[in-house]
Amino acid sequence: MRYGGNTTCIEVRVGGELIIIDCGTGMRPLGRALSAAGQPVVATVLVSHMHLDHLVGFPFFSPAFDKNNRLAFYSEPRVFKGLRAVLTDQMAGPTFPIGLDAMGAQLRFHELEPGDSVRLGEVHVRTAPLDHPGGATAFRIEFQGHSFVHASDHEHKGALHPPLLELARGADVLSIDSTYTEAEYPDYVGWGHSTWEHACWLGEEAGVGRVVLTHHDPSHTDEILDRIAQEAAARRAGTRVAHEGMIIDLMDGGIR
Ligand SMILES: [Zn+2]
Ligand SMILES: [Zn+2]
Repeated sequence: MRYGGNTTCIEVRVGGELIIIDCGTGMRPLGRALSAAGQPVVATVLVSHMHLDHLVGFPFFSPAFDKNNRLAFYSEPRVFKGLRAVLTDQMAGPTFPIGLDAMGAQLRFHELEPGDSVRLGEVHVRTAPLDHPGGATAFRIEFQGHSFVHASDHEHKGALHPPLLELARGADVLSIDSTYTEAEYPDYVGWGHSTWEHACWLGEEAGVGRVVLTHHDPSHTDEILDRIAQEAAARRAGTRVAHEGMIIDLMDGGIR
């Protein structure tokens, strides 16, 4: 109730660019806010992977229905079909009444292998592969010496993941999969997710400024997340549990 129940969608404003990470259900309120601003929406959408909780918000993203808007997607190439086909299937009968082709915005689709990087104006986006069923991509967004890393979904399997450790090194903020606690993890080996304890360890080893715990287990209540917030901040100073609407200012380090 307090931390929020929407799935992953992160808005990044940097160097004049609008970057959206993942199309979870949080994309619906983001779309409403962008539409209400009354400006054309030109955005880069970075897709970590194609699991439903990271895509299902897109059919409800109102700016996609406006022909004045442009969305450029970047996602990992798939052997069987790409992101456009997955989004098309998601918006098809009998499970959805409006097709992708009814969206008026210009949609462009680009492939980005984990490990590749892309430049958006003055912004540099680097990537790394994560350990998740079917794969997933972590993103590092860099601008004028500041950096934000988002790494989810990822399973630690008891060890530091070298590509992620490298990608996260020295970042101002690391937003990272912390679905479970270490006490819960043995019941979920192979499910593709990490723990807050591991997130703190990785943040320490990578020398990041602040760790932000995200991708909460849907069965974790506000009270459980409050307790995790306390324990995590005691384990590594500055660690925060992500909540819906949280705003992090990378330039001054402030959190709202
Ligand atoms: Zn996933
Ligand atoms: Zn997920």
